[in-house]
Amino acid sequence: MNIPKHTDTLVVGSGTAGSIVAGRLASRLNQKVVLLEAGPDFGPFNNINWPPDLLNGTVIGETHDWGYTSSSVNGKHNHNLERAKAIGGCSSHNGCIAIWGSHLDYDTWESYGNNGWSSQEVLPFFAQANKTLRVRDFQESEVTPFHRMCVNVMENTGIPRSKNLNDLYENQGVNISPVNILNGKRFNAAFAYLDPVRENGYLTIIGNSLVNKINLNRNKAISVEAIINNEETLICADRIIVSAGSFESPCILMRSGVGNTRKLSKLGITPHLELLGVGSNLHDHPSLNIRFQGTNLLSKLMKEFRENGQLIFSEQSIAKVRSSNCKEGFDLHIYPITGTTENGNGSWDCAIYTANMVPLSRGSLEITSNDPLSKPIIDQGYLTDQEDQDIKILKEGLEISREISLQKEAIELIGYELPESSRIESIDDIRKNVLHYYHPVGTCKMGPELDSTSVVDNNGKVHGLDNLYVIDASIIPTVPRGNTNLPVAMVAERIVNNLC
Ligand SMILES: Cc1cc2nc3c(=O)[nH]c(=O)nc-3n(C[C@H](O)[C@H](O)[C@H](O)COP(=O)(O)OP(=O)(O)OC[C@H]3O[C@@H](n4cnc5c(N)ncnc54)[C@H](O)[C@@H]3O)c2cc1C
Repeated sequence: MNIPKHTDTLVVGSGTAGSIVAGRLASRLNQKVVLLEAGPDFGPFNNINWPPDLLNGTVIGETHDWGYTSSSVNGKHNHNLERAKAIGGCSSHNGCIAIWGSHLDYDTWESYGNNGWSSQEVLPFFAQANKTLRVRDFQESEVTPFHRMCVNVMENTGIPRSKNLNDLYENQGVNISPVNILNGKRFNAAFAYLDPVRENGYLTIIGNSLVNKINLNRNKAISVEAIINNEETLICADRIIVSAGSFESPCILMRSGVGNTRKLSKLGITPHLELLGVGSNLHDHPSLNIRFQGTNLLSKLMKEFRENGQLIFSEQSIAKVRSSNCKEGFDLHIYPITGTTENGNGSWDCAIYTANMVPLSRGSLEITSNDPLSKPIIDQGYLTDQEDQDIKILKEGLEISREISLQKEAIELIGYELPESSRIESIDDIRKNVLHYYHPVGTCKMGPELDSTSVVDNNGKVHGLDNLYVIDASIIPTVPRGNTNLPVAMVAERIVNNLC
């Protein structure tokens, strides 16, 4: 492939956001766009190069992973923090649960001074992303007996049946989640946004190209340094958009001299611009699960379901639930999961997960060298807020999950809680067992320039630099009350609309 020496816009990373940004720019402007992706480009939807597990909507996060682990004692040390390294980014190996959150999330973003981000203003961009990613409801026949039972049981415990889980103004509710899976295949952001423009002459996608840093001259970004085919390569661009995700976008800025300049100098990186927010404000929804052996009836029903030719989605039912801390909207997700056991006899077990959807705790991410191949230190900072509010909400989620599991209809299918799980009770137990929900955000926070912890403005432009943007999950100031793929897609749609 001929690698261009110059382009109008260069996008770093082809994940959910990068695919949308590059695809939209290449279709709406008569301008050249180069998209650099560290992982492989497997081509369009029907290309035989696609690894089966990345296409299979029932398999989550198995291959093509960056291999990040948590470095924090808050949350499990060395806990895997999955992030996909392939065209489509995490949208190529995620659960495809397509959830929007609550109006409170986006009205809060706007209240921080991010004009144009109120719930009313973001709605059209959610609708656009939903349509392009071909989000759909499961048909009745696709809902597993396990998840049908879960919805009924949760309703019986007093959670109302949701009319539309993605109604931003709905408070509590339980139902089967919408998904972006078509005929069993994960319809990732690259299929949705890049396939239509792959051949239009404006877009160049270069896979297996690891971006090291951005070269800056005064208040301008002028070029990108990347390792392509094992060679250091320089590409100049009039506009550079970093969409490398919550873990890599801050690393690229730091390696470019943007961040805490004192710390960067110590690593031998020439400092360019002091932006203290780069790498801070890291957060995700802390979660927890309780586990069940599953009854013979569960195994029988699931086997029959599979023998009838249906695919098995481990995650389908989701409840938006209020803890006693919550006065408006909801603050918990409850999401049961089932799968075959590891003992190989074809039996099924299950777990009920709960996640705190309004975490106050914040972690951080730091690079340890200027080498793009070295991993950052990722401290999730889970459950570290001063008032212990995060842990109290999670504890209530645990109690609600147990109440659900003790309903007669539930016991018939899932049996009783496993002893090692039933021992999770105290705040200390919760701390030891806290998990992530795959939704890290916030490490290049969007906010007004006056807010010294913010990194980009309400259009994704990096403060203090004219033509450098960050557009991905990292700019989300506070994580929405929902899985993050659709919110990230909305963010990209919303900003690219202004850039065109
Ligand atoms: C296993 C898993 C399951 C999930 N399940 C769901 C779900 O069911 N529903 C939901 O809503 N959300 C889910 N999520 C979260 C959701 O997929 C992410 O929030 C979203 O995809 C993030 O998009 P992004 O554009 O910010 O980053 P990413 O999609 O991570 O994209 C970043 C891209 O940049 C590339 N990149 C990074 N660094 C460089 C570099 N230096 N040079 C070049 N390229 C680089 C990466 O390889 C990647 O392709 C899940 C995530 C995971 C990991």
